[in-house]
Amino acid sequence: MNYEKIFKTAVEQVRDEGRYRVFADLERIAGEFPYARNHGPGPDRIVGWCSNDYLGQGQNPEVIEAACQAARKMGAGSGGTRNISGTHHLHVLLEKSLADLHGKEAALLFTSGYVSNSATLSTVAKLLPGCIIFSDALNHASMIDGIRQAGCERRIWRHNDLAHLEELLAAAEPGRPKMVAFESVYSMDGDVAPIAGICDLAERYGAMTYLDEVHAVGLYGKRGGGISERDGVAGRVTIIEGTLAKAFGCMGGYITGSSALVDAVRSHAAGFIFTTSLPPAVAGAALASVEYLKVHDELRQRHQERAATLKKRLTAAGLPVMPSETHIVPVLVGCPVRAKAITDDLMVTHGIYVQPINYPTVPKGTERLRLTPSPFHDDILMGNLVEALLASWAKVDLPLRNVA
Ligand SMILES: *Cc1c(COP(=O)(O)O)cnc(C)c1O
Repeated sequence: MNYEKIFKTAVEQVRDEGRYRVFADLERIAGEFPYARNHGPGPDRIVGWCSNDYLGQGQNPEVIEAACQAARKMGAGSGGTRNISGTHHLHVLLEKSLADLHGKEAALLFTSGYVSNSATLSTVAKLLPGCIIFSDALNHASMIDGIRQAGCERRIWRHNDLAHLEELLAAAEPGRPKMVAFESVYSMDGDVAPIAGICDLAERYGAMTYLDEVHAVGLYGKRGGGISERDGVAGRVTIIEGTLAKAFGCMGGYITGSSALVDAVRSHAAGFIFTTSLPPAVAGAALASVEYLKVHDELRQRHQERAATLKKRLTAAGLPVMPSETHIVPVLVGCPVRAKAITDDLMVTHGIYVQPINYPTVPKGTERLRLTPSPFHDDILMGNLVEALLASWAKVDLPLRNVA
């Protein structure tokens, strides 16, 4: 058996399609967000335009200080799983803070948002014999993973399509347990789910709701509770899931819900039980970040203003901004080879870092640049970005839109 050859062939296929991924070898500079040192081709110092640290919280001095203090006081690692020597008081405080953020009875931490989705969806469905999961067609890989592991029946509804969801719910046997799984902000298109409408249907057909707010926590709602807080519907959602790794700038994932549900997941989910808990530095930093964002709505307002301004400037320049209702600014390229050529040129010629988004993250033919302006991307940086994009666009012969 030539194992090496099989691995190489598997990669060649990806390369032939122009979507072979190369890591950008960067080093973020604390206190200088969105700048980073570049260890790869291009200038030594670059400006990042695609981070999911949407608010720069990973570099908030209060958050860094909380990480340092926790590590100095409690050490580097947690020392165990949550059940065996690995529950630190910081975990308890962080879970309280997250339950409070979403107005739920309880919260449970996981080592990542990915694990929180896969572990919770699979566990809850297994606890409900005969359960049917109604999954939005664009749900994240981690939710799909959990639903597959659950081994239950699943029905896929067309993305954000309430009529289709109702059709599928109405067709299901009334007596069976049901769960509707969806996201609030979809991270590649920047569109938003009609949460209230989904809750209406779920209530009508006796279904639970599972909402991934990963791209919305910290960013929407008066205290950063996500779109469900903004829309005043958090109380109607059964399980709200989030990450500590994006707007909160740290690492880890969580769910919030009723005490009974959270206790059941805590007691049954392998992805929770059989793994070491978050280290004190991470739990402390995340706690500081969540609490900080509960009382700094002005950062969210500045974030929204920056995103709106960037969309306006790109559109005015004739660049094909895709429609987005949120802070995510996708720009359509439509070809993996050109998307890569543009981002290589942005980096090497202009010191601007944008990662191309290719299949399978998005459908073939919709390859794009995904820009994430933060409160720290000022008008000068935006001007530089637009000019650089126009220059790179011309080099790969992509047309611009006619601007009136
Ligand atoms: C990133 C992401 C996750 C996973 O969160 P991590 O904390 O990065 O593991 C889950 N759901 C969605 C929609 C995501 O984009």
